[in-house]
Amino acid sequence: MTVVNQTPFTATVLGLPRVGPRRELKRATESYWAGKIDAGQLHAVARDLRRAQLAELQAAGLDSIPVGTFSYYDQVLDTALLLGALPPRVAGIADPLDRYFAAARGNDEVEPLEMTKWFDTNYHYLVPEIGRDTVFSLNAEKLLHEVREALDLGAPARPVVIGPITFLKLAKASGGAALDRLAELVPLYRELLRLLAEAGVGWVQIDEPALVTDLTEAETALVRSTYAELSASAARPAILVATYFGHPDAALTALASTDIEGVALDFTSGSTVSDVAGVPALAGKLLVAGVVDGRNVWRADLDAALTTLGTLLGSAAAVAVSTSCSLLHVPYTLAAETGLDERLRSWLAFGAEKVAEVRLLATALTEGTEAIGAELADVRAALATRQADPRLNDSTVRARLAELGPDAIRRAPAEERRALQQEQLGLPPLPTTTIGSYPQTSAIRLARAAVRKGEIDDAEYVRRMRAEVADVIALQEKLGLDVLVHGEPERNDMVQYFAEQLDGFAATEQGWVQSYGTRCVRPPILFGDVTRPTPMTVDWISYAQSLTEKPVKGMLTGPVTILAWSFVRDDQPLGDSARQVALAIRDETVDLQAAGIRIIQVDEPALRELLPLRKADQQAYLDWSVQAFRLATSGVSDATQVHTHLCYSEFGEVIDAIAGLDADVTSIEAARSRMEVLDDLNAAGFDLGVGPGVYDIHSPRVPSVEEITTSLRAALKAVPAERLWVNPDCGLKTRGQAEVAAALRNMVAAATAVR
Ligand code: GLN
Ligand code: ZN
Repeated sequence: MTVVNQTPFTATVLGLPRVGPRRELKRATESYWAGKIDAGQLHAVARDLRRAQLAELQAAGLDSIPVGTFSYYDQVLDTALLLGALPPRVAGIADPLDRYFAAARGNDEVEPLEMTKWFDTNYHYLVPEIGRDTVFSLNAEKLLHEVREALDLGAPARPVVIGPITFLKLAKASGGAALDRLAELVPLYRELLRLLAEAGVGWVQIDEPALVTDLTEAETALVRSTYAELSASAARPAILVATYFGHPDAALTALASTDIEGVALDFTSGSTVSDVAGVPALAGKLLVAGVVDGRNVWRADLDAALTTLGTLLGSAAAVAVSTSCSLLHVPYTLAAETGLDERLRSWLAFGAEKVAEVRLLATALTEGTEAIGAELADVRAALATRQADPRLNDSTVRARLAELGPDAIRRAPAEERRALQQEQLGLPPLPTTTIGSYPQTSAIRLARAAVRKGEIDDAEYVRRMRAEVADVIALQEKLGLDVLVHGEPERNDMVQYFAEQLDGFAATEQGWVQSYGTRCVRPPILFGDVTRPTPMTVDWISYAQSLTEKPVKGMLTGPVTILAWSFVRDDQPLGDSARQVALAIRDETVDLQAAGIRIIQVDEPALRELLPLRKADQQAYLDWSVQAFRLATSGVSDATQVHTHLCYSEFGEVIDAIAGLDADVTSIEAARSRMEVLDDLNAAGFDLGVGPGVYDIHSPRVPSVEEITTSLRAALKAVPAERLWVNPDCGLKTRGQAEVAAALRNMVAAATAVR
């Protein structure tokens, strides 16, 4: 066996973004899918990105570099592949790359794996499917290839894999709990460790973020036995187990009791120095201290980080400096931004800047703080301007919020509102409507590109978007829908659109972050107090309303969703930021009402996403998030009908909160869960209007009248007719025009028949 270097390292990050600083991998992958480049060309783009990244991190002075966090689509899918657990339905696809992409995104013959949120982040992973017949087998080619590639370049490579417990906890198993299969995986991980040692690897990182969720005692015991067994392997690299997004509690004690050589903890959200001091068994191990926030964009307070690090030195054999989690969740570099004001810029750190922070802290730890004196002074000066900046402390907004009493989040009882609204709206039973967006036509995309490049001016852009609104209104009238929408053509994104118009938010130019696969988002940065300089949607909605006698719904995004899809302030509780955003939305609802709009929808599709990972923290979150929604929606009169839209299929812990929102009408995803959500809502005492999606918009298939009729009849078993609305289960933005018209025609026909 090769003798490998297992001495502790001092400066690292837990993982890396892969889409490329200019989204090169996204473009190459999409070209491959479109048949414009071949697999060799795609691999070459990927290889060049990895090499450039390695060179950069080496130059930045990291003495241990994560390898294997590169992915063509998703790291959980890669782990399924590593363990031989791709679903059998793709097994027949001969080409390995095409088989992989088929599992990720499906094709004409096979359904893809389901996708869901990676813990409480905005990244989506593919849910592994483990069947009774799944026979796990090790398939380490990809990882070994990337390890050799890095070692050949002389990089201090630390391969990263998702650990067996997290992998199984994220998977969906048929016939029994996924964790029951743990014993089958452990030998594969042992074999992998042997292969990595043979390849010359000194340290391996095994990611176990699932350990920061609530574990049962039996599960904690599995943590202990699994890592005892893995660390008992004879030929293996030193093992670092990484947790992030919270603190592992009892699981940390379990890990520390085994012979693993190191643990990585997140000191930016969860772990504290006293947590660590409480685990004496860490004294013999390397502690990789995540003191630089890997998932938000703020520049680190180096003094505070050094205090933490200094205290930790006494609790472990050695301390290395790291980001709290993978840099997957932040943009590549601030250097790509040209439009940020200098002051805001001095408060920020993206990926490259975080690497530099890690390096500085590690230097200070070994050489003393004098070694980074100039940089410390610079950070202190920048952070002082942040604290003093008037944009972070708008006395008008703060005073307005302080003055709001309990009535600000209260409306008349639901039945009273229902009567007033019915009088004003005169809707038929089982009213039909849609969720907001209509297909993004090529005319919309062309106009958006043209205005960005300066080929058309703003007035021309508005003219073209108004033409789209007119088309969508005409279509809805022709189809006979009861409550119309303007179609949202002017919105690039339902959060960005509002963030761009609110003070307190900043936009980036190149701040792309992978959301899933090749899809990237550019989250706005909430840096200051939130105010609304002018109405944001009133012109568009009033214009749409001027074209029809039918009621047009005003469309807004709710405070929780705006925060969930932004980088948020770290200098005040999230609930405080939510109240500020809510106040701005409230002002918008009041202006819409004054403009004659009788129905206003405030979307909160992300309500579930921000739910804390630990049960103990969930109620506090639900309290402030529900209050923020109510603050946003209780400024209008009782005759104005408030709608909300939520889209996820498992409501679980948030079901009571949905009732708490007190929206007059709630449209929810239900088509895929066969209306079961209605029973759950009933059980939670929900007695308001509800529009369970009667067909699934996530597929281009046009549902038949019979199918929708069946859905409606199923819904009527759970909800009386006077509370039931008829709508698709989400916005129509990603669908084609022809299929949308056909599907809505059938939806209206079904509603008419059931009436
Ligand atoms: N109103 C939005 C739309 O229709 C809602 C989108 C969402 O639920 N994510 O596009
Ligand atoms: Zn939706």
